[in-house]
Amino acid sequence: MSKSLQAIRGMNDILPEQTPVWRYFEGTVSRLLDNYGYKQIRMPIVEFTELFKRSIGEVTDIVEKEMYTFEDRNGDSLTLRPEGTAACVRAVLEHGITGGGQVQKLWYIGPMFRHERPQKGRYRQFHQIGLEVFNLDGPDIDAELIIMTWRLWGELGIRDAVKLELNSLGTSESRGRYREALVAYLSAHHDKLDEDSQRRLKTNPLRVLDTKNADTQAVLVDAPKMADYLDEESRAHFEGLKARLDAVGIPYVLNPKLVRGLDYYSKTVFEWVTDKLGAQGTVCAGGRYDGLVEQMGGKPTPGVGFAMGIERLVLLLETLEQIPEEISRQVDVYLCAFGEEAELAGLALAERVRDQLPNLRLQVNAGAGSFKSQFKKADKSGALYALILGDDEMAQQVVGFKPLRGQGEQQSIAWDALAAHLATCVVQG
Ligand code: ATP
Ligand code: MG
Repeated sequence: MSKSLQAIRGMNDILPEQTPVWRYFEGTVSRLLDNYGYKQIRMPIVEFTELFKRSIGEVTDIVEKEMYTFEDRNGDSLTLRPEGTAACVRAVLEHGITGGGQVQKLWYIGPMFRHERPQKGRYRQFHQIGLEVFNLDGPDIDAELIIMTWRLWGELGIRDAVKLELNSLGTSESRGRYREALVAYLSAHHDKLDEDSQRRLKTNPLRVLDTKNADTQAVLVDAPKMADYLDEESRAHFEGLKARLDAVGIPYVLNPKLVRGLDYYSKTVFEWVTDKLGAQGTVCAGGRYDGLVEQMGGKPTPGVGFAMGIERLVLLLETLEQIPEEISRQVDVYLCAFGEEAELAGLALAERVRDQLPNLRLQVNAGAGSFKSQFKKADKSGALYALILGDDEMAQQVVGFKPLRGQGEQQSIAWDALAAHLATCVVQG
């Protein structure tokens, strides 16, 4: 195929055999979000570039080198969203729905775009489910976010494969004092830092903690620790969060080097990580961003949120073989009809059954075909039962009901009784 007819590197088609797992995952998450009282918001995929520069921060990896930015026909600089928080904050401010201290518990789902090096678990178009809570500043809501994800891992059967890492970045005042101490320490060891860290020391010193460079990591062993710089308010908040996680029995590991890639975090930061996916092990990440809304032109409004990477979680479900068998079955019943008269009767019968069993996955054979070929298609569809309409069945106004997966003999069911019979033998999703 010529190059122009291929998908863009790092942007994937999600094929029909993969979508059932995606829908299972998305369905499980959205049901949980409903149950915990979160409401969905849908933002555009494209925003003014300025929005991301202002919110994510000029000297972050995302803004410096990962954004898909282009000029539109009006000459405006636009960017494909690299994450959801910025647009969500923009939307709540634009519509005034967090004004006067109104609490909003919001979630969104959709594609994000970052020009990164594609590899397993890292793509240029990827998908997130994210959520943001506005106007609640206590540790109770931070705990709720984590508790809800813990329940999600439990329902998905992947709890044993993920680990919660936790840190507090404190209020902006305590972070400021810590930054000073860290800069003083790192400046004294400037020559031993890698080039990237030397640059970050000037632009975004906390990010040095995040380095993968072994020499810099060695320098960091004796560096000042954020925990020693937390003020009373930050400390009490962090203790409150930990007490709630303890109460529910959620294990966590304190990671003083966890700083997150974005500029806007304060107090709580957390990541759920797995060692089952190689290098791209963070499946869900978030934290508190009490200063962000004000920084974007709103009134001071506390906020907290997270985002999970759907590709990585789907990969984890596949790796751990935690995909329920019934989600890949897309057909319950397959109707075969032989001859034109039977085909017409079959169509009408199928619609009557659908009226009575709206969740039944009933596939009617298309393209006619011999007895043998229709049966082959019925079997290949994955259906549990075939319904058969031939000359004999037409004469008696019955339908042949044939189990395809070895659950007993074929029987005849009267047309009027078919829906009731199906209701007893097909578990409806
Ligand atoms: P990483 O350290 O892996 O680059 P990040 O800190 O940049 O992640 P966030 O911006 O916090 O990631 O996004 C939240 C989640 O979205 C990540 O934990 C991950 O599961 C997922 N994610 C982020 N970038 C990608 C990507 N390029 N491809 C696939 N999933 C991604
Ligand atoms: Mg990243």
